[in-house]
Amino acid sequence: MSEKEDVVVKKKNQFEPIDVTCPSCSSKITTEVTYEPGLSSWMACLVCSYLGLVLGCCLIPFLHKRFKDCVHTCPNCKQIVKRCSRLKSKK
Ligand SMILES: [Zn+2]
Repeated sequence: MSEKEDVVVKKKNQFEPIDVTCPSCSSKITTEVTYEPGLSSWMACLVCSYLGLVLGCCLIPFLHKRFKDCVHTCPNCKQIVKRCSRLKSKK
């Protein structure tokens, strides 16, 4: 809920590129956003497997997208500026 806001100026949409000052190279940058499976995706995978058996496969695409982590990286120095999980926004 009240996430520590160190680099993000606006938290309108954490899953789109944001304009920040990179903490690593101190450049004014627009982050590059990539999506990668985090811990939540593995959990979702298990849930999908279970639900897939019970309900069929229709939920899998939804869950797959829903549980991907969002990683903001600096295009200058390639350092990770911010990482967002859709499950929990702490850390
Ligand atoms: Zn940088």
